[in-house]
Amino acid sequence: MKVSFDLDGTAWKHRAIFIALANALQLDGHDVGVLTAHSEELRAADLRLWAARGFPEPDFFYNAEDMRQAGVVGLADMRATKIAFARRAGITCHFDDFDDFHPDEIEFVVITDAGG
Ligand SMILES: [Mg+2]
Repeated sequence: MKVSFDLDGTAWKHRAIFIALANALQLDGHDVGVLTAHSEELRAADLRLWAARGFPEPDFFYNAEDMRQAGVVGLADMRATKIAFARRAGITCHFDDFDDFHPDEIEFVVITDAGG
């Protein structure tokens, strides 16, 4: 599987569970990484913080620029954008608070027809 985590409101907010989950998934042979709406300017800082906070070395890191380059733009909202991009990137599972939808919850999206 290729499993991604949102940063704000998700990996950053619930570190203990997502660090444990990311490590367990990698140990089991799965690819683990980030799918965030952050800008390209934050990429280096995000990666530094990801490591400093104890997350395992990511197998991939996608931000708004990656979504733009993939042509995933102009969708109704960030939730639709991220899910469309995840499908193109071959992400099979994504954890996200989707700020506007679930301010106090984490959504676990399973993308059964992921390509990539
Ligand atoms: Mg978020």
